[in-house]
Amino acid sequence: MPNKTPPVVSSQDINKIKEIVGKIDEVDITPYLLLSEKTQIPLLYEYPFLKAYLGLTTGEYLATENEIEKFLVNSTSFLSVHCEDNSLINEYKKEFVNELKYHCEIRGPNTELNSINSLIKIKNKIKNKTSIHVAHTTLIKSVEILREVGITFEVTPHHLLLNKKDFDRLGVWAKMNPPLRTKAEQEALFAAFLREEIPIIATDHAPHTREEKSEFFMNGIPGLETALPSLLNRLKPLNLTKMKLLVDALAINPRTLMNFQSKGVISVGEIADLTVIDLNLKRTVINDDLFTKCKWSPWKDEELQGWPVLTIHNGKITYNDL
Ligand SMILES: [Zn+2]
Repeated sequence: MPNKTPPVVSSQDINKIKEIVGKIDEVDITPYLLLSEKTQIPLLYEYPFLKAYLGLTTGEYLATENEIEKFLVNSTSFLSVHCEDNSLINEYKKEFVNELKYHCEIRGPNTELNSINSLIKIKNKIKNKTSIHVAHTTLIKSVEILREVGITFEVTPHHLLLNKKDFDRLGVWAKMNPPLRTKAEQEALFAAFLREEIPIIATDHAPHTREEKSEFFMNGIPGLETALPSLLNRLKPLNLTKMKLLVDALAINPRTLMNFQSKGVISVGEIADLTVIDLNLKRTVINDDLFTKCKWSPWKDEELQGWPVLTIHNGKITYNDL
Protein backbone atom coordinates (compact mmCIF):
# COMPACT_ATOMS: atom_id res chain seq x y z
CA MET A 1 0.00 0.00 0.00
CA PRO A 2 1.25 3.50 -0.78
CA ASN A 3 0.83 4.82 2.79
CA LYS A 4 4.06 3.20 3.89
CA THR A 5 7.02 5.20 5.18
CA PRO A 6 8.17 6.93 3.04
CA PRO A 7 4.92 7.18 1.02
CA VAL A 8 4.77 6.23 -2.67
CA VAL A 9 4.44 9.63 -4.36
CA SER A 10 7.00 9.78 -7.20
CA SER A 11 8.29 7.76 -10.14
CA GLN A 12 11.48 7.15 -8.13
CA ASP A 13 9.37 5.57 -5.35
CA ILE A 14 7.52 3.40 -7.88
CA ASN A 15 10.76 2.34 -9.59
CA LYS A 16 12.38 1.46 -6.26
CA ILE A 17 9.50 -0.90 -5.45
CA LYS A 18 9.50 -2.38 -8.95
CA GLU A 19 13.23 -3.09 -8.67
CA ILE A 20 12.72 -5.01 -5.41
CA VAL A 21 9.58 -6.91 -6.44
CA GLY A 22 11.00 -7.69 -9.90
CA LYS A 23 13.33 -10.16 -8.16
CA ILE A 24 10.43 -12.06 -6.58
CA ASP A 25 9.44 -15.11 -8.63
CA GLU A 26 6.46 -16.34 -6.61
CA VAL A 27 3.92 -13.55 -7.16
CA ASP A 28 3.21 -10.46 -9.24
CA ILE A 29 3.28 -7.20 -7.33
CA THR A 30 2.05 -3.90 -8.77
CA PRO A 31 2.55 -0.84 -6.54
CA TYR A 32 -0.19 1.68 -5.85
CA LEU A 33 0.59 5.39 -6.05
CA LEU A 34 -0.72 7.57 -3.21
CA LEU A 35 -3.20 10.30 -4.07
CA SER A 36 -1.91 13.25 -2.04
CA GLU A 37 -0.85 16.87 -2.35
CA LYS A 38 2.76 15.66 -2.43
CA THR A 39 2.30 13.31 -5.40
CA GLN A 40 4.35 14.15 -8.47
CA ILE A 41 2.52 15.74 -11.39
CA PRO A 42 1.93 14.53 -14.14
CA LEU A 43 2.49 11.04 -12.64
CA LEU A 44 -0.58 11.58 -10.42
CA TYR A 45 -2.85 11.74 -13.46
CA GLU A 46 -1.06 9.14 -15.58
CA TYR A 47 -0.13 6.26 -13.28
CA PRO A 48 -2.75 3.47 -13.67
CA PHE A 49 -3.37 2.45 -10.00
CA LEU A 50 -3.85 4.85 -7.09
CA LYS A 51 -5.15 4.71 -3.54
CA ALA A 52 -6.66 7.61 -1.59
CA TYR A 53 -7.37 7.75 2.14
CA LEU A 54 -10.48 9.56 3.37
CA GLY A 55 -9.72 8.40 6.92
CA LEU A 56 -6.35 8.46 8.67
CA THR A 57 -4.91 4.99 9.16
CA THR A 58 -1.21 4.14 8.81
CA GLY A 59 0.75 7.36 8.24
CA GLU A 60 -0.59 10.89 7.91
CA TYR A 61 -1.92 10.68 4.39
CA LEU A 62 -5.39 12.07 4.14
CA ALA A 63 -6.89 13.05 0.79
CA THR A 64 -9.44 15.85 0.80
CA GLU A 65 -12.68 15.55 -1.14
CA ASN A 66 -11.44 18.41 -3.38
CA GLU A 67 -8.25 16.49 -4.19
CA ILE A 68 -10.27 13.41 -5.14
CA GLU A 69 -12.60 15.50 -7.28
CA LYS A 70 -9.68 17.19 -9.06
CA PHE A 71 -8.10 13.80 -9.66
CA LEU A 72 -11.30 12.37 -11.12
CA VAL A 73 -11.66 15.32 -13.48
CA ASN A 74 -8.10 14.91 -14.77
CA SER A 75 -7.59 11.15 -14.86
CA THR A 76 -9.27 7.94 -15.92
CA SER A 77 -6.94 5.73 -13.86
CA PHE A 78 -8.15 3.19 -11.30
CA LEU A 79 -8.64 4.83 -7.89
CA SER A 80 -9.15 2.68 -4.80
CA VAL A 81 -10.52 4.67 -1.85
CA HIS A 82 -10.15 3.91 1.85
CA CYS A 83 -13.55 5.08 3.09
CA GLU A 84 -13.71 6.22 6.72
CA ASP A 85 -14.95 9.69 7.69
CA ASN A 86 -12.06 11.26 9.56
CA SER A 87 -14.04 14.03 11.25
CA LEU A 88 -16.53 11.50 12.60
CA ILE A 89 -13.65 9.35 13.88
CA ASN A 90 -12.38 12.42 15.75
CA GLU A 91 -15.87 12.96 17.23
CA TYR A 92 -16.00 9.33 18.38
CA LYS A 93 -12.55 9.69 19.92
CA LYS A 94 -14.02 12.34 22.23
CA GLU A 95 -17.00 10.12 23.08
CA PHE A 96 -15.01 6.95 23.69
CA VAL A 97 -11.65 7.01 25.41
CA ASN A 98 -8.98 6.63 22.72
CA GLU A 99 -8.03 3.15 23.92
CA LEU A 100 -7.39 -0.08 22.09
CA LYS A 101 -10.52 -1.75 23.48
CA TYR A 102 -12.76 0.91 21.89
CA HIS A 103 -11.11 0.66 18.46
CA CYS A 104 -14.24 -0.79 16.78
CA GLU A 105 -16.50 1.88 18.33
CA ILE A 106 -14.20 4.80 17.46
CA ARG A 107 -14.29 3.72 13.82
CA GLY A 108 -17.96 2.67 13.94
CA PRO A 109 -20.15 1.79 10.93
CA ASN A 110 -21.25 5.40 10.31
CA THR A 111 -17.67 6.45 9.59
CA GLU A 112 -17.68 4.07 6.60
CA LEU A 113 -21.20 4.97 5.43
CA ASN A 114 -20.61 8.75 5.66
CA SER A 115 -17.41 8.44 3.73
CA ILE A 116 -18.99 6.31 0.99
CA ASN A 117 -21.80 8.85 0.68
CA SER A 118 -19.25 11.65 0.25
CA LEU A 119 -17.53 9.65 -2.47
CA ILE A 120 -20.83 9.10 -4.28
CA LYS A 121 -21.52 12.86 -4.18
CA ILE A 122 -18.13 13.52 -5.77
CA LYS A 123 -18.70 10.86 -8.42
CA ASN A 124 -22.09 12.31 -9.29
CA LYS A 125 -20.48 15.71 -9.98
CA ILE A 126 -17.99 14.24 -12.44
CA LYS A 127 -19.21 13.60 -15.95
CA ASN A 128 -16.29 11.70 -17.49
CA LYS A 129 -16.03 7.95 -17.03
CA THR A 130 -13.89 7.37 -13.99
CA SER A 131 -12.98 4.19 -12.26
CA ILE A 132 -13.57 4.60 -8.51
CA HIS A 133 -13.36 1.53 -6.33
CA VAL A 134 -13.99 1.22 -2.59
CA ALA A 135 -11.37 -0.79 -0.71
CA HIS A 136 -12.17 -3.22 2.14
CA THR A 137 -15.93 -2.68 2.47
CA THR A 138 -17.23 -4.04 5.79
CA LEU A 139 -21.00 -3.45 5.95
CA ILE A 140 -24.00 -4.98 4.20
CA LYS A 141 -25.41 -1.44 3.85
CA SER A 142 -22.23 -0.35 2.03
CA VAL A 143 -22.61 -3.34 -0.32
CA GLU A 144 -26.21 -2.36 -1.07
CA ILE A 145 -25.40 1.32 -1.67
CA LEU A 146 -22.36 0.64 -3.85
CA ARG A 147 -24.19 -1.94 -5.95
CA GLU A 148 -27.02 0.52 -6.47
CA VAL A 149 -24.77 3.34 -7.71
CA GLY A 150 -22.49 1.03 -9.68
CA ILE A 151 -19.22 1.64 -7.80
CA THR A 152 -17.01 -1.44 -7.56
CA PHE A 153 -15.73 -2.63 -4.20
CA GLU A 154 -13.92 -5.43 -2.45
CA VAL A 155 -14.26 -7.22 0.89
CA THR A 156 -11.42 -8.75 2.90
CA PRO A 157 -11.38 -12.38 4.09
CA HIS A 158 -11.15 -11.11 7.70
CA HIS A 159 -14.34 -9.04 7.45
CA LEU A 160 -16.08 -12.07 5.93
CA LEU A 161 -14.85 -14.53 8.55
CA LEU A 162 -14.01 -12.66 11.77
CA ASN A 163 -15.99 -10.27 13.96
CA LYS A 164 -15.85 -8.01 17.01
CA LYS A 165 -15.70 -11.03 19.33
CA ASP A 166 -12.46 -12.03 17.63
CA PHE A 167 -11.16 -8.51 18.24
CA ASP A 168 -12.12 -8.80 21.93
CA ARG A 169 -10.22 -12.12 22.02
CA LEU A 170 -7.17 -11.16 19.94
CA GLY A 171 -6.82 -7.42 20.66
CA VAL A 172 -4.11 -5.75 18.61
CA TRP A 173 -3.63 -8.92 16.51
CA ALA A 174 -7.10 -8.31 15.03
CA LYS A 175 -6.82 -4.52 14.87
CA MET A 176 -7.23 -3.05 11.43
CA ASN A 177 -9.01 -0.20 9.66
CA PRO A 178 -11.88 -0.36 9.03
CA PRO A 179 -12.29 -2.55 12.13
CA LEU A 180 -14.07 -5.87 12.57
CA ARG A 181 -17.86 -5.49 12.92
CA THR A 182 -20.55 -7.38 14.86
CA LYS A 183 -21.21 -11.07 14.28
CA ALA A 184 -24.58 -10.20 12.68
CA GLU A 185 -22.84 -7.79 10.28
CA GLN A 186 -20.17 -10.34 9.42
CA GLU A 187 -22.78 -13.01 8.72
CA ALA A 188 -24.81 -10.63 6.55
CA LEU A 189 -21.68 -9.85 4.56
CA PHE A 190 -20.91 -13.53 4.12
CA ALA A 191 -24.49 -14.21 3.02
CA ALA A 192 -24.09 -11.44 0.42
CA PHE A 193 -20.97 -13.22 -0.84
CA LEU A 194 -22.96 -16.45 -1.22
CA ARG A 195 -25.59 -14.49 -3.20
CA GLU A 196 -22.84 -13.37 -5.61
CA GLU A 197 -23.17 -9.76 -4.47
CA ILE A 198 -19.50 -9.32 -3.58
CA PRO A 199 -17.41 -9.13 -6.74
CA ILE A 200 -13.93 -9.13 -5.24
CA ILE A 201 -12.19 -10.53 -2.18
CA ALA A 202 -8.88 -8.79 -1.49
CA THR A 203 -6.69 -9.33 1.53
CA ASP A 204 -5.49 -5.77 2.39
CA HIS A 205 -2.35 -7.68 3.44
CA ALA A 206 -0.53 -5.60 6.07
CA PRO A 207 2.30 -7.69 7.52
CA HIS A 208 3.37 -5.42 10.38
CA THR A 209 6.12 -6.84 12.56
CA ARG A 210 5.28 -8.11 16.02
CA GLU A 211 7.05 -5.06 17.47
CA GLU A 212 4.98 -2.66 15.35
CA LYS A 213 1.83 -4.34 16.64
CA SER A 214 2.69 -4.86 20.30
CA GLU A 215 4.57 -1.59 20.90
CA PHE A 216 2.83 0.83 18.54
CA PHE A 217 -0.59 -0.89 18.06
CA MET A 218 -0.30 -0.41 14.30
CA ASN A 219 -3.33 -1.11 12.16
CA GLY A 220 -3.56 -3.99 9.71
CA ILE A 221 -3.06 -7.74 9.65
CA PRO A 222 -1.35 -10.18 7.28
CA GLY A 223 -3.83 -12.14 5.17
CA LEU A 224 -2.31 -13.23 1.88
CA GLU A 225 -1.16 -16.66 3.00
CA THR A 226 -4.29 -17.60 4.94
CA ALA A 227 -6.91 -16.14 2.58
CA LEU A 228 -7.49 -19.29 0.57
CA PRO A 229 -7.42 -21.87 3.40
CA SER A 230 -9.60 -19.73 5.69
CA LEU A 231 -12.20 -19.23 2.94
CA LEU A 232 -12.10 -22.87 1.80
CA ASN A 233 -12.50 -23.94 5.42
CA ARG A 234 -15.57 -21.72 5.84
CA LEU A 235 -17.13 -22.92 2.58
CA LYS A 236 -16.82 -26.65 3.23
CA PRO A 237 -18.30 -28.88 2.01
CA LEU A 238 -17.28 -27.20 -1.21
CA ASN A 239 -19.38 -27.72 -4.31
CA LEU A 240 -18.79 -26.37 -7.80
CA THR A 241 -21.07 -23.36 -7.30
CA LYS A 242 -19.16 -22.20 -4.24
CA MET A 243 -15.85 -22.92 -5.95
CA LYS A 244 -16.89 -20.70 -8.86
CA LEU A 245 -17.75 -17.88 -6.42
CA LEU A 246 -14.25 -18.07 -4.95
CA VAL A 247 -12.47 -18.23 -8.32
CA ASP A 248 -14.49 -15.26 -9.57
CA ALA A 249 -13.86 -13.16 -6.45
CA LEU A 250 -10.16 -13.97 -6.12
CA ALA A 251 -9.06 -14.17 -9.76
CA ILE A 252 -11.51 -13.47 -12.59
CA ASN A 253 -13.14 -10.26 -11.37
CA PRO A 254 -9.90 -8.56 -10.17
CA ARG A 255 -8.37 -9.39 -13.57
CA THR A 256 -11.26 -7.74 -15.39
CA LEU A 257 -11.48 -4.70 -13.12
CA MET A 258 -7.77 -3.90 -13.12
CA ASN A 259 -7.26 -4.98 -16.72
CA PHE A 260 -4.56 -7.53 -15.96
CA GLN A 261 -4.45 -9.17 -19.36
CA SER A 262 -3.24 -12.77 -19.60
CA LYS A 263 -3.79 -13.33 -15.89
CA GLY A 264 -6.43 -15.13 -13.90
CA VAL A 265 -7.93 -17.50 -16.45
CA ILE A 266 -7.08 -21.03 -17.50
CA SER A 267 -7.02 -21.09 -21.28
CA VAL A 268 -4.77 -21.93 -24.22
CA GLY A 269 -2.44 -19.00 -24.89
CA GLU A 270 -2.78 -17.47 -21.40
CA ILE A 271 0.06 -17.35 -18.92
CA ALA A 272 -0.16 -20.26 -16.45
CA ASP A 273 -0.82 -18.88 -12.97
CA LEU A 274 -2.40 -21.81 -11.20
CA THR A 275 -3.10 -22.94 -7.66
CA VAL A 276 -3.81 -26.61 -7.01
CA ILE A 277 -5.72 -27.17 -3.79
CA ASP A 278 -6.36 -30.23 -1.62
CA LEU A 279 -9.88 -29.81 -0.25
CA ASN A 280 -9.39 -32.52 2.37
CA LEU A 281 -6.03 -31.42 3.72
CA LYS A 282 -6.29 -30.24 7.32
CA ARG A 283 -3.47 -28.15 8.71
CA THR A 284 -3.07 -26.03 11.80
CA VAL A 285 -1.78 -22.49 11.30
CA ILE A 286 1.51 -22.28 13.18
CA ASN A 287 3.13 -18.84 13.35
CA ASP A 288 6.69 -20.10 12.90
CA ASP A 289 5.75 -22.14 9.82
CA LEU A 290 4.32 -19.15 7.93
CA PHE A 291 6.08 -17.89 4.83
CA THR A 292 4.92 -14.36 5.67
CA LYS A 293 7.99 -12.62 7.11
CA CYS A 294 6.17 -11.17 10.12
CA LYS A 295 5.43 -14.76 11.29
CA TRP A 296 2.09 -14.11 12.96
CA SER A 297 -1.53 -14.54 11.99
CA PRO A 298 -4.96 -14.02 13.59
CA TRP A 299 -5.58 -17.65 12.53
CA LYS A 300 -2.77 -18.84 14.80
CA ASP A 301 -3.34 -22.37 16.17
CA GLU A 302 -6.59 -22.84 14.21
CA GLU A 303 -7.05 -25.96 12.14
CA LEU A 304 -8.23 -25.14 8.62
CA GLN A 305 -9.40 -27.58 5.97
CA GLY A 306 -8.47 -26.91 2.33
CA TRP A 307 -4.93 -25.81 1.46
CA PRO A 308 -2.92 -25.02 -1.65
CA VAL A 309 -0.50 -27.85 -2.43
CA LEU A 310 1.02 -26.60 -5.69
CA THR A 311 1.36 -23.15 -7.22
CA ILE A 312 2.53 -22.27 -10.71
CA HIS A 313 3.47 -18.69 -11.50
CA ASN A 314 4.29 -17.51 -15.01
CA GLY A 315 4.44 -21.15 -16.10
CA LYS A 316 6.95 -22.17 -13.38
CA ILE A 317 6.29 -24.24 -10.27
CA THR A 318 6.92 -21.94 -7.32
CA TYR A 319 5.53 -24.06 -4.46
CA ASN A 320 5.18 -27.82 -4.37
CA ASP A 321 3.85 -29.72 -1.39
CA LEU A 322 2.46 -32.69 -3.33
ZN1 LIG B 1 -7.07 1.01 3.34
